[in-house]
Amino acid sequence: MNSKNTIIVTGGAGYIGSHTIIELLENTAYNVVSIDNFSNSSSKTFDRIEHITGKKIVNYAIDLCDKKSVENVFEKEKNIVGIIHFAAFKSVPESVSNPYKYYSNNINSLLTILECCLKFNIVNFIFSSSCSVYGNISELPVKESTPLGKSESPYAYTKQIGEEILKDYSKTFLNLKIIALRYFNPVGAHISGLIGEDPINKPTSLVPVITQTAIGKLKQMTIHGTDYSTRDGSCIRDYIHVTDIAIAHIKALEYIINEKQKRNFSIFNLGTGNGVSVIEAITAFEKISNKKLNYTIGPKRAGDVEAIYSDTSLSEKELGWKTEFTLNEMMDSAWQWELNQQKE
Ligand code: UDP
Repeated sequence: MNSKNTIIVTGGAGYIGSHTIIELLENTAYNVVSIDNFSNSSSKTFDRIEHITGKKIVNYAIDLCDKKSVENVFEKEKNIVGIIHFAAFKSVPESVSNPYKYYSNNINSLLTILECCLKFNIVNFIFSSSCSVYGNISELPVKESTPLGKSESPYAYTKQIGEEILKDYSKTFLNLKIIALRYFNPVGAHISGLIGEDPINKPTSLVPVITQTAIGKLKQMTIHGTDYSTRDGSCIRDYIHVTDIAIAHIKALEYIINEKQKRNFSIFNLGTGNGVSVIEAITAFEKISNKKLNYTIGPKRAGDVEAIYSDTSLSEKELGWKTEFTLNEMMDSAWQWELNQQKE
């Protein structure tokens, strides 16, 4: 291996960041350094990662939009070989109500970290993108080559802009090796039950809303619309286990570090290929947990697309990656995580 062996993970205390750190520490020889200011996460996550892996995480609790502070990290950490940039705000409804928060943070942090890549000669870069870049699309499943539709929310637009920024950097700075991973809907929790999705703010994503309703943290949940043109009227998404997503990052990192990338900017979908409706997701959860959920039917939520699921062939062919976890395992692990949090 290259003598440089540190991977910077931004948003390391976050949901996907924390699961990816575990995979990096357990299945690769890389050292991990995190940058996370706990704006929507908890420092306790690092204690849990240490418990699972036996390794202590170095974290810099700084704002990624603060260029000077980020540069200080890069000056201090001498052996950086690559960056996985997770840190961003990610709630569709919040982005609709507070677009400034999303545009200023998600775009500025990306630019700051890219400028650091150039300044400190770090070439391997992985970006968290999202299937929301496709917008409302009639041709399903979506392929990476599917032309992007209009973004349905400021959040989705920050990911479209993020990809454009990366494309432009890759054209100008030919030594960069960049991958954007378009996540479908990451759900579930680590098999240990010790880490999972842990939003500081009130959850808006379906599965934490489901588990928090089942345990009584939320009195009732709402299905946002049953008048879509889908098989049961509710929206369709491609839910994917967070550990499958984490493993895909290791594959993507190895793909660029081991020079398997043909161009210097690639995009891959990370999904299972299965479309699941909100009602089907609720039914799967009720079966696995033996709990009846208290839900009501509400109107459509602003910013939502009707149906989206992934074509998985490109990531399978190029990265040699495909998902392992079933919908039941996603729901069960999310539920175990919720139950474990109650015991704390
Ligand atoms: N959803 C819902 N009730 C909730 C939260 C989500 O019906 O309390 C629906 C939402 O409208 C969407 C799907 O569940 O159709 C997935 O939403 P989520 O926020 O998890 O992910 P998104 O695809 O919007 O990023």
